[in-house]
Amino acid sequence: MLQEYRQHAAERAQLGIPPLPLNAQQTAQLCELLKNPPEAEKEELLMLLRDRVPPGVDEAAYVKAGFLTAIAKGEIECSLISHQGAVDLLGTMIGGYNVQSLVDLLKSRDSNLAAEAANALSKTLLVFDAFNEVLALSDINPHAKQVVDAWAEGDWFLNKPKVPETITVTVFKVPGETNTDDLSPAPHATTRPDIPLHALAMLESKMPDGLQTIAQLKAKGHPVAYVGDVVGTGSSRKSAINSVLWHIGHDIPFVPNKRAGGYILGGKIAPIFFNTAEDSGALPIECDVTKLNTGDIITIHPYEGKITNEAGETISTFQLKPDTILDEVRAGGRIPLLIGRALTDKARQTLGLEPTSLFVRPSLPEDTGKGFTLAQKMVGKACGLEGVRPGTSCEPIMTTVGSQDTTGPMTRDELKELACLGFNADLTLQTFCHTAAYPKPVDIKTHKELPDFFSTRGGVALRPGDGIIHSWLNRMLLPDTVGTGGDSHTRFPLGISFPAGSGLVAFAAALGVMPLDMPESVLVKFTGELQPGVTLRDIVNAIPWVAMQQGKLTVGKENKINVFNGRIMEMEGLPDLKVEQAFELTDATAERSCSGSTIKLSEETVAEYLRSNIVLMKNMIARGYQDARTLLRRIAKMEQWLANPSLMSADPDAEYVDTIEVNLNEIKEPIVAAPNDPDNVKLMSECAGDKVDEVFIGSCMTNIGHYRAAAKILEGAGRIKSVLWVCPPTRMDEQQLREEGVYGIFAAAGARTEMPGCSLCMGNQARVEDNATVFSTSTRNFNNRMGKGARVYLGSAELAAVCALLGKMPTVEEYLAIVAEKVDPFKGDLYRYLNFNEIEGFENFGRVVPESEMPKLEEVGV
Ligand code: SF4
Repeated sequence: MLQEYRQHAAERAQLGIPPLPLNAQQTAQLCELLKNPPEAEKEELLMLLRDRVPPGVDEAAYVKAGFLTAIAKGEIECSLISHQGAVDLLGTMIGGYNVQSLVDLLKSRDSNLAAEAANALSKTLLVFDAFNEVLALSDINPHAKQVVDAWAEGDWFLNKPKVPETITVTVFKVPGETNTDDLSPAPHATTRPDIPLHALAMLESKMPDGLQTIAQLKAKGHPVAYVGDVVGTGSSRKSAINSVLWHIGHDIPFVPNKRAGGYILGGKIAPIFFNTAEDSGALPIECDVTKLNTGDIITIHPYEGKITNEAGETISTFQLKPDTILDEVRAGGRIPLLIGRALTDKARQTLGLEPTSLFVRPSLPEDTGKGFTLAQKMVGKACGLEGVRPGTSCEPIMTTVGSQDTTGPMTRDELKELACLGFNADLTLQTFCHTAAYPKPVDIKTHKELPDFFSTRGGVALRPGDGIIHSWLNRMLLPDTVGTGGDSHTRFPLGISFPAGSGLVAFAAALGVMPLDMPESVLVKFTGELQPGVTLRDIVNAIPWVAMQQGKLTVGKENKINVFNGRIMEMEGLPDLKVEQAFELTDATAERSCSGSTIKLSEETVAEYLRSNIVLMKNMIARGYQDARTLLRRIAKMEQWLANPSLMSADPDAEYVDTIEVNLNEIKEPIVAAPNDPDNVKLMSECAGDKVDEVFIGSCMTNIGHYRAAAKILEGAGRIKSVLWVCPPTRMDEQQLREEGVYGIFAAAGARTEMPGCSLCMGNQARVEDNATVFSTSTRNFNNRMGKGARVYLGSAELAAVCALLGKMPTVEEYLAIVAEKVDPFKGDLYRYLNFNEIEGFENFGRVVPESEMPKLEEVGV
């Protein structure tokens, strides 16, 4: 084992990165070696056990905890580790598999051992149900009493150093905008769980010598601060922050291959990136960075809110946010702070003590006495309140949580570190949409292992080929509830969601709540009627277009204006949209950098969707999807809603930070996002004639109606002039389209059809030709996302089909003529949605679970 490990370590050292953490099998072999350690290997063996085994509820942690417990109890001997040393090492394991052993050791007859166990538990935060056991024991056991007192006094926090008055760093600046794809490139998605390896790809396209520069700057002897004009836009991937912290953070004792801390300064820092930085113990600061340049040595004064240069001159000022940020940094991150603070509060409450003043508590915003917006009411309900004002720090209940396959393995690792053996969130979904079509060996391993990891904790796991996370997760939503997901496009069309990085998603799934600083809301009000040839996707693009006309949004990155940034977009005025259509609008709020979105829909629309989704979930149970009880519980809750349907509404005097009216009567032609920025919206006529090499119809922005409409445009029109990729969002869409003969039309046109999933949208699998001009229905057109050097337009499926047909962007006349002839007369038939309850026998399609073995509603106790 050692030989193999050393060889592996040597290979990794050549890349400048540490070896992978030990797995369960290696840890078991290591423990065997430690029982009889060869003299020359002693130090190394001890180091491996201490520093290279992942903590929490990793399988390797289970082996390590068992071994150390046996030594502590005298059941096995190890010349290198004393009984007390074993307890000490158990105390470094953060929580999870070490906790029960430490609680048992409090009762040891050897008082030294019991005292050591008390010391270890006093610093352990992830104790969950063991809290009650220690509390009960504290009546008769002085060591347990010591633990409860230490929790109540917040020793775990007091033992950590405060953030210093001044922090001197060397600047590493990436000018302009850095999105998460620059920091964690999609083509390297499969290496994300391997943080050091993945971090080697950071900035590979944006700044190829960036990592070398960071290494040189470190030689100046100060920590390096990451500085940018706009930092962390784009997807929610936590791997972006993991990579940044790998290069600028510090090691976490006893946690292999992960770093925390670090300083990130940005003119604008995207909200999800800001949150993941907070979660990871970094100090993100929004401030003017124009006077900061690579190589500068600067001093951050966190308490005074200023940055000085070497001459002592103030070159930037800032206000820290949120109020609790310095506590978060001291605790090692927002998540440890929340868990630790809750433990201290709980201990004090049970001891009858006043709440401690040790922590900075979030301040409540002033109550204006006005009404609440829809989002404020939904979050309020999830907090047990009538409403929640913007600026309130709260912890709403997370009813639904989503996780996809490129972030799922990281979420799994975070869940292990949180010592999670069962989800408290009512429904947690894991999907395989990003890697199913062209899996690498590491993806196949994920496809095999992740479903069990989630379903044994009460989550629901989809299967490769089923389709896109959102197209499924939306079908499991309950009206007026709150959720999150490890994908930036988790933008519920029912209820509200706040997408997050994998650390926070794991927290939400494990604890069933999520920390939230309630954002402000911007109201987008639709008036008028859709004009001929204009689709809902054009309305998606009309939102930034109107904002731009009003000076509330700019495209340039320097001093960028974006009224939506970090806010909730609340949409009204299209109540009769189907939920599938409504998602087009909410999905795209990710591109506006909104933290969340709501859309007001009618009860009829929502009821129709839920009736369909109940049948889909019944079919999932019949097909053997797990965890069946979770699905059944969700079905029961949907039926409860249908029995008494009601939806929340914004109060008439609700307060919005801004209101933007989009008058549909004024949108008379398609609007596209031109290369290469989703905010770079233009009228189609401004782009007419531009050659289009490739066309992609797919992504979570599409629904079945789009494919029918696109096929209608292509039907009978002969071979197309562009390369055409077609990828429906789910296997149900694919099945239905095949049955309707739509696939036959795509085949005749020469289209390439892909397995349902993310396909070209993600860009980690299939890619367009280098430097191609592309028209795509997908979500975002960041540089190099779909293909190296690709110029990408974003717009409707109808316009995509016309582009494929003509090989160019059409004129308004060309486009309107085609739509008038091919689409308008058939609208009623084309834009129909998947109502599974209306498909005969759908519940039983693919049944593998006999009727008699189906779980019963009574069993789930709803
Ligand atoms: S289709 Fe695109 S935007 Fe949607 S989940 Fe997949 S990669 Fe993300």
